[in-house]
Amino acid sequence: MNKIILIILFVYSLISAVSVLALTRDEEIFIHGNIEFIVFHELAHILINDLEIPVFGPEELAADYLATIAVINPLDINVANAERARQYLSAVAKGFSTTWELNEPQINQLPFWDNHGLTMQRYYNIGCLLYGSNPDIFPRIPGLIGIPEKRSSQCVQEFAKAQKSAMWLLDNYGKKDSHNETSIQINYGLPETEISRQVQLSIRDSSLIENIVSRFNSRFSLEAKIDIKLMGCQARQAVWNSASRELVICHELFDYFYSLARISGSHNLN
Ligand SMILES: [Zn+2]
Repeated sequence: MNKIILIILFVYSLISAVSVLALTRDEEIFIHGNIEFIVFHELAHILINDLEIPVFGPEELAADYLATIAVINPLDINVANAERARQYLSAVAKGFSTTWELNEPQINQLPFWDNHGLTMQRYYNIGCLLYGSNPDIFPRIPGLIGIPEKRSSQCVQEFAKAQKSAMWLLDNYGKKDSHNETSIQINYGLPETEISRQVQLSIRDSSLIENIVSRFNSRFSLEAKIDIKLMGCQARQAVWNSASRELVICHELFDYFYSLARISGSHNLN
């Protein structure tokens, strides 16, 4: 099974080198959902460290929960936003489970002392929070994601706690002066592959990053500026450099999410 997936990945990488492609709507949603989650996850780290927010437990877990709440956006809930959250978080959860199934050593064979949760645990956590945010809208999630009753019965409470914590964060560390805005520059580098070029194009066209920055700026204010750079970096990652205050989203992630989108298909958790 894993060999087949690796062969598919290899074929896609060959295709990317020779052909011009356009993203399907499902691929676009999958990739945008994962990119939005990653950017919010990194912004959560920046918030925690810049504002010296107290955190119990691993910061990685806190950043995942904050990013999930940010995608759900409970303060601005309506039918369209709920559907968007379902699509995006389905993509993120599916991304984690597919990564787990690929069984890549650098991601899955983390030592147990690592501060990151296993991708399969991140999958269940996100599914549980999404379901818990509104079981009436997302009744099929536990069945689709495979969350047993033992956990799903706690998801409403888990979401309520996470949301309460997010509201506490907003009350105590949120923006007090509406004129006080963090300078966040977005810099789009030159993609090296056809896939990453197409992904970046769709990200720019939809103002995905600009909208995330706008939502962040409406809630929080930092003393120092941030640069968000989308660029090639020979690694499949998003990295925050606290010295230069640069958040780098590597183009290699675009290629990876495209591959995952093709493998995952149009599975939705609903
Ligand atoms: Zn992190």
